[in-house]
Amino acid sequence: QAEFDFDKTSTIWKELLVLARQPGVCNLGQGCPDYNGHQVAREAAVQAMLDPDKSALNQYSMPAGLKSLQDAVCAYYNNVYGLREGQAKRAITPENVLITVGATEGLYNSMKALVGPGDEVILFNPGFPFYLPMIRLMGATPVFVELDGPDFAPDLEKFEKAITPKTRVLLLNSPHNPCGHCYTKEEIEGFARLALKYNLFVLSDEVYENTTFGDAKHLRLADEEGMFERTITLCSASKLFSLTGWRVGWALSTPELLKGLNVSHCMTSYCAPTPLQHGLAVALEAEDGTFEGIPKLVEGNAELLGSALREKGFGVTQPEGGHFLVADTSPLGLKGVECAKLMLANAKVSVVPGIIFYFADPNADETVDIDRPLLRFALCKRRDTIEEAVRRIRQMT
Ligand code: PMP
Ligand code: GLN
Repeated sequence: QAEFDFDKTSTIWKELLVLARQPGVCNLGQGCPDYNGHQVAREAAVQAMLDPDKSALNQYSMPAGLKSLQDAVCAYYNNVYGLREGQAKRAITPENVLITVGATEGLYNSMKALVGPGDEVILFNPGFPFYLPMIRLMGATPVFVELDGPDFAPDLEKFEKAITPKTRVLLLNSPHNPCGHCYTKEEIEGFARLALKYNLFVLSDEVYENTTFGDAKHLRLADEEGMFERTITLCSASKLFSLTGWRVGWALSTPELLKGLNVSHCMTSYCAPTPLQHGLAVALEAEDGTFEGIPKLVEGNAELLGSALREKGFGVTQPEGGHFLVADTSPLGLKGVECAKLMLANAKVSVVPGIIFYFADPNADETVDIDRPLLRFALCKRRDTIEEAVRRIRQMT
């Protein structure tokens, strides 16, 4: 098997981060909010750090998490989510919640718990760039299923054809990064049917769960009949609270599945930062549960940016959820990297080219070009940031 170049994606990513942070650049690159994260959470975390009566909150928590945060997470999913039609058929308890150091750690250690050499993991292409290196680091084999534009919805038939006797895990993501597709009820049922038929585990990356637009609703795979027992759902305070630097997330599953994840979680980080877990617990308890502000902002941003890009001749996929919008650069006769460079030079708007999200299969035909004609724009930005980007894009020659 050909060597996997771990450094390639991260080198391009690091270069982009440096360029995007130059003065005067309007940064729609990394999915990182430029608005303030949850105020209640921040205040409560500061109190935990400084209040002498709360000094114990500056020490280790239990590896699975601070009990108050586990409880608050349960209340959130049971009460608030559960009120949405057709959802939360099963109540969760603290033993179903493992607090992780971001969804990144949750994904990595779930992968570690579930797969090893000889196992195959099916994932969609394009997708979140960290998936492939994680699979490779486990010594497992990735199997890619292509998503086709303009809607980038999964093709269940293609998906079933990719399943072999070695397939152990389906890696799913909705709302999708980068394409913004939200799985429909039919798609969720299809995935569940296949997972049950072929006896597969599912890693369901739902970090953008609360950000859906229009009629789209977030549907949880674990709510399908028989799926909770075989699914680990990954969630993130980075997204729900706009606190990407806190590095807190949670994995939801059965105690049996979380046991494997907890072993490597203990060995890599032991626990997520305790005062920050406390801040999030207080904030979750204080919320009425809707977290509506950010999805509304992001949806409006998508509309503004989408129409400006359409005017410029890009093909635009209007997202159904998540924090990103993708645009097709082929009507302009440009590839992704070329167009991203042009945007930066010409308009001082930094975006991410498709090459970051298209996984290169080292065993694939050399002629397969992963520099697809695609750009990703981050929408988790203040309205004035998006308006400035739109002004600059409109003036581009
Ligand atoms: N999954 C997806 C789809 C993401 O876009 C990200 C990055 N924000 C993560 C997981 C990791 O999130 P976290 O910041 O919680 O590690
Ligand atoms: N999820 C974010 C994105 O896709 C960034 C994640 C990261 O840089 N660790 O842009």
